[in-house]
Amino acid sequence: MQKILNYINGELIEPVSGNFLQNINPATGACYSLCPDSDDKDVNLAVDAASKAFPGWSNTSASERSRIMLKLAALIEENNDRLAKAESMDQGKPFWLAQKGEIPRAKANIHFFATAIEHFASEAHPMGDHALNYTLKTPLGVVVCISPWNLPLYLFTWKIAPAIAAGNCVVAKPSEVTPMTAFLLAELCIQAGLPPGVLNIVHGLGPKVGPAMNTHPVVKAISFTGGTKTGAEIARTAAPLFKKLSLELGGKNPNVVFADCDFDKTVSESVRAAFTNQGEICLCGSRILIERSIYEKFKEAFVAKVKKLKVGDPLAADTMVGAIASELHFNKILSYIQLAKEEGGTILTGGSAVTPGPGFENGYFIEPTVIEGLSQYCRTNQEEIFGPVVTLTPFDSEEEALQFANSNEYGLASTIWTENLTKAHRFAAGIKTGIVWINCWLLRDLRTPFGGMNQSGVGREGGWEALRFFTEQKNVCIKL
Ligand code: NDP
Repeated sequence: MQKILNYINGELIEPVSGNFLQNINPATGACYSLCPDSDDKDVNLAVDAASKAFPGWSNTSASERSRIMLKLAALIEENNDRLAKAESMDQGKPFWLAQKGEIPRAKANIHFFATAIEHFASEAHPMGDHALNYTLKTPLGVVVCISPWNLPLYLFTWKIAPAIAAGNCVVAKPSEVTPMTAFLLAELCIQAGLPPGVLNIVHGLGPKVGPAMNTHPVVKAISFTGGTKTGAEIARTAAPLFKKLSLELGGKNPNVVFADCDFDKTVSESVRAAFTNQGEICLCGSRILIERSIYEKFKEAFVAKVKKLKVGDPLAADTMVGAIASELHFNKILSYIQLAKEEGGTILTGGSAVTPGPGFENGYFIEPTVIEGLSQYCRTNQEEIFGPVVTLTPFDSEEEALQFANSNEYGLASTIWTENLTKAHRFAAGIKTGIVWINCWLLRDLRTPFGGMNQSGVGREGGWEALRFFTEQKNVCIKL
């Protein structure tokens, strides 16, 4: 059986303990590879390698760092379909989604920061003719990047690209649920000529490997994407150690539909926003708020479209909804559907686990599920489900829609559907989310700040924000 290996000091190696975890294909429920069950000994090796590499890498010119990263981006592009297939088998998502969306985006992440670093300049503040300030942006040193299982290579590269572009050396951990593409990336890093120790990848269980990484005295910063509870735990342990923190956490995003929207486009895009990647995207619109005058019409059209979504083999071209990433998560989603029923919700479509065909009897598939009849303040509408489950709720006025939209402790993303631009601007100003989409969903420009408010996180990623996070500003003042 294939063994995934840690990537430390430029080499692919087994964990010190020699222990491995089973890596499951969620479409079949069968183990198909082995993932290192690393511990603090592996983390220490990785941090040592990163520390040794740091003086050389941080003094490498930005253009040389850029050159190596561009080579890595080209290799990701060359291996697009191989990586997409690996992602689909490991995570359960449709192959075409990884092939057309995620792996090209992983390449774009590396490419974007490889070119951005060549334009990341120091600032100068002259004080008349008697003094001059200049502000250097220097790399931090050894930094930690931890990413989740929903968009494995996409989110992994989104973190490591700005970190290494800025001259840091990285110790990274993908989720143990989806380790495969990070392993394949390590092979590509070797081919691209990334110097040993610049990127180190330690695989294993979060609660075992994570704290060893986050509390290591040499580590200067932690960039984490994952659940709010884990983010709180990381903040609790890392804050007294004065480590710089970027936390991208959960969401429970409102999708607000006004009566004056472009109806057909809104229905289609709301289905996409709800069920892409089995609803396992932190930005999915899972609370659909609809102006009462079009509620019944919207409900009918939306449910009809959802019923047509094919749940099936992630590798099949016509599959729209693949497998849920893990058994644990599968059971969590089903428990939320049960909760919704107990809270008085009516299931309009879906609501059950399903076997999409022979060979998938032990896989983790759930029908796309639409629920109505729930209060905005019940647990189903307040807690993140992170699966193919959405609720529909009518509203009577713009004020009520805003109140519902902001009724949640999260604040990651929101979507507004209206042809009235004045209303759209007004609503966008009032909504408490870090990202607001008007008449679109998941339209991303990598230069824009990305992140959430409240329980959805602290800090922003993307563009200069990410490069600023991974650098320390040092002001030098010269009296002339
Ligand atoms: P988790 O918080 O469980 O895990 C995220 C990562 O942290 C994994 O690599 C995990 O390892 C690791 N981890 C777990 N425990 C610790 C610990 N104590 N210390 C350090 N690391 C640890 O989240 P999920 O993987 O379940 O991801 C889903 C969550 O991520 C959802 O809440 C979703 O909204 C959020 N998310 C947020 C995004 C954003 O940009 N705001 C984007 C995408 C997802 P392992 O899995 O190996 O145990």
